[in-house]
Amino acid sequence: MTTLSSVQAAESKLMVPTYDRLPLLLTRGKGVYIYDSEGNAYLDFLSGIGVNALGYSHPAITKTIAAQAAKLVHTSNFFFHEYTVELAARLTKASGLDRVFFCNSGTEAFEGALKLARVYANMKAKNGARKWRVLAMEQSFHGRTFGAMATTHTVKYRKPFAPVMPGVSFVRFNDVADLKKKFNPQVCAVCIETVQGEGGIHAASREFLEAARALTKKSGAALILDEIQCGLGRTGKMFAYQHYGVLPDIATIAKPLAAGLPLGAILTTEAVSKAFHPGLHGTTFGGGPLACAVALQFLKTLKQDHVLKHVVEVGEYFRERLQQLDAKYPEIQDVRGIGLMVGMELNSADLAKKVVKEMLARKIVINRTHETTLRFLPPFIIERKHVDQVVQALDSILSSCKQTGDAEASPLRARSARTGAAGNGHRRGLQKDSEQKRG
Ligand SMILES: *Cc1c(COP(=O)(O)O)cnc(C)c1O
Repeated sequence: MTTLSSVQAAESKLMVPTYDRLPLLLTRGKGVYIYDSEGNAYLDFLSGIGVNALGYSHPAITKTIAAQAAKLVHTSNFFFHEYTVELAARLTKASGLDRVFFCNSGTEAFEGALKLARVYANMKAKNGARKWRVLAMEQSFHGRTFGAMATTHTVKYRKPFAPVMPGVSFVRFNDVADLKKKFNPQVCAVCIETVQGEGGIHAASREFLEAARALTKKSGAALILDEIQCGLGRTGKMFAYQHYGVLPDIATIAKPLAAGLPLGAILTTEAVSKAFHPGLHGTTFGGGPLACAVALQFLKTLKQDHVLKHVVEVGEYFRERLQQLDAKYPEIQDVRGIGLMVGMELNSADLAKKVVKEMLARKIVINRTHETTLRFLPPFIIERKHVDQVVQALDSILSSCKQTGDAEASPLRARSARTGAAGNGHRRGLQKDSEQKRG
């Protein structure tokens, strides 16, 4: 019989040891719940790292997968199929960009975006004045392939693979002066997650994004906004950059795009897209009929069911409830985020680790990122009662940590400088984050 312990033992011998998995053997999902092999239900506030935005076994998605699987799964890029055009039309309309390249993952989208930026810059180079440098942000995450890894700030992800792609410099996130200092005519791309995900849920400040847009525009470099985690409705708008009124040259999307099937995309302008021509870039699986049919259904469902309005409402309610905890527990350093991309920063990594574990014991899945940040990326379809359940569980865990005194970083550590009680609207959320000083 397949049990958790038998799978754990066998995986430890058979798999390349890349993952430190949670001790759950999942067998099915329904709505906002996942079920393990013993039939236990877990409330999922991580949704497969922001992928399962419509939850599990959504009827429209399940139906589309079954119908398309019976018709045509894969074609390769040698042929046309019937979904590319409508999907690309919806994505370009929603993003304000002009053209689309489909691929299989976030990393592949971002890697392609870097190639596109380089070739675009080379195309425009005059008198041998090549642009090749890339500016990326501190605390960034763009993926695990060589280019994406080289632009990912976390040292432990890069260092063992050295030498990585040369030409990348890291800019202090939201530090306009540092951006200006490091920007020069050799820069071909500035890469920004509009809201940093793995880095701890930090939104770009308006000032910073506007400065990046102005600098790149003036010199002919590409502004690449990585919306793989924050895009496609997670923040309450289709694209997080729409909170700022800034339009990038290139945007990358993936995670929720095909409701759980692998699909990523590069979106770009007419001008930049001209740098690619047949033969210059490609993929075997990317943008196949199954993934595209499902992505189309995902976008239709977001619209038909007014899902983004719900994301805004329930996201505000969630942050309000977390602010109440914030007022009660000195261990909570900050509550931030936009829509249903929410972070709660604690004052110690051990405490954050413990809270995630205790939440799991209470049958709730959340995640810890950037050491001290609890990250919540629930499906867009959660309701207030699910928020209440999560907040009550956090309340009880934090209060019991206090009583047993085993959160060693406990109360007396200084709180980070506060910037008011804001954070419960995306505008205020953005503002709060931008004002926040990293310590
Ligand atoms: C997850 C993520 C990626 C990588 O996407 P994969 O699908 O895991 O390859 C890149 N950028 C951001 C911002 C992400 O959150």
